[in-house]
Amino acid sequence: MTRQLVALLALLSVVGCGDIVPPERPAPYQFSIDCSIDGLCSSAAGDLELIFSWPRHSLPVRVWAEPRQDFPLHTARAIRLWTDASIYGEFSAVLVSDSQVADLIVLLGEPELVIQSSSGVTPLDCRGSTPIEVTRDTTIALPFRITIIPRAGSGPNELDRCFPTAIAHEFGHTLGLFLNSDDPSDIMFARPMVASTSLRDRATFLTLYHTRPTVRLPDGR
Ligand SMILES: [Zn+2]
Repeated sequence: MTRQLVALLALLSVVGCGDIVPPERPAPYQFSIDCSIDGLCSSAAGDLELIFSWPRHSLPVRVWAEPRQDFPLHTARAIRLWTDASIYGEFSAVLVSDSQVADLIVLLGEPELVIQSSSGVTPLDCRGSTPIEVTRDTTIALPFRITIIPRAGSGPNELDRCFPTAIAHEFGHTLGLFLNSDDPSDIMFARPMVASTSLRDRATFLTLYHTRPTVRLPDGR
């Protein structure tokens, strides 16, 4: 009798758990750089897997945006988008007025005549670039520098559309989402086509921020 009761309770608790399964979360895309296979790292990096996220003690991340072309506005929006992906305060950032104290700098680059997408066929109105530098002792080099490069001849309307998307995408790289997604509905798609983060972007961000990092911040930061 007792054993039956225990079995019944176990069954109930299994059913109970089944009832409160959280809503399905899409599978994350890859965010870390595996230096052993990707060919993205210098040979000095060896077989490292580069996993980076901003630790709690470093928050809020300090961000400076060049005061041209509404960059501070677009950057504030990118901060909001990614902060909203947090559930337990995993990430926060603030705009600062002094670039000298910034962890992350957003710059407007010189216009380029032709900007091709990575597939080489579609001309883009702007593109972003964010080099990731990790030293041999697996410390990340700060500040991150996002450069947004407009295509020469792009009109103001095209750039007003392109800049916020490109800044939000590059911002994702500085959060530790080092790789591009393979899905055009994600903002981390190589040629970003959506202006906001997708469910999958947010799921990937949360997975990263609950994964142990292998790359750390410089001492004192
Ligand atoms: Zn990218």
